[in-house]
Amino acid sequence: MSDIAANLARIQHRIAEATARANRPAGSVRLVAVSKTHPAEAVQQALAAGQVLFGENRVQEAEGKFPALRASHPAMRLHLIGALQTNKARDAVALADVVESLDRPRLATALAEAMQKEGRRPDVLVQVNTGDESQKAGIPRAEADAFIRACREQHGLPVQGLMCIPPVAGDPRPHFLYLAELAAKHGLAVLSMGMSGDFEAAIACGATHVRVGSAIFGARDYPAT
Ligand SMILES: *Cc1c(COP(=O)(O)O)cnc(C)c1O
Repeated sequence: MSDIAANLARIQHRIAEATARANRPAGSVRLVAVSKTHPAEAVQQALAAGQVLFGENRVQEAEGKFPALRASHPAMRLHLIGALQTNKARDAVALADVVESLDRPRLATALAEAMQKEGRRPDVLVQVNTGDESQKAGIPRAEADAFIRACREQHGLPVQGLMCIPPVAGDPRPHFLYLAELAAKHGLAVLSMGMSGDFEAAIACGATHVRVGSAIFGARDYPAT
């Protein structure tokens, strides 16, 4: 078994255990394997091990890796999880199955236009800056309610849920619980939260999707923000 296959099996096992501990139904948490900065061969190994959901944070990098792989693995799905420039909205809509990083009104406008032009409607998650950190992407807490409503009602976007990246330091659980409450309030089913270091806590708080990179593919050679 490749290292990647072994890592995937280990993570899936930990997800299953965390799901059971939370008294949630088996299979209710999906693993998004975050392959950013890793080559197509690494994705290939994960596909061979049965992984179908992948996350990338740069449109251009994903465009270089995914179309060819998808041709041979039609079941694979791509989540774009990184900060998205409005001028990349059309490429993102053409490529992604889920855009997890909708975080500002201009991007909502750009995505809605891109969907019209492309005739394609990937699911969308609203990214919330739960720690209100100035350097971080995401809609600030105070604006989240109005923004979620505007994305759905004014822009007509297919918003399925919420995503967050809690502050690096400190307990992530209050952030996960806040996001879960916000999703419930808006009747949104998808909660993308939890990474290599905290996905079990996220599952305890209701995550439906965890985004795990380094624990599957190893350390990244260069930082990807
Ligand atoms: C890189 C990244 C991840 C995965 O992080 P790891 O700590 O490597 O598991 C998850 N979510 C987002 C938005 C990322 O950019």
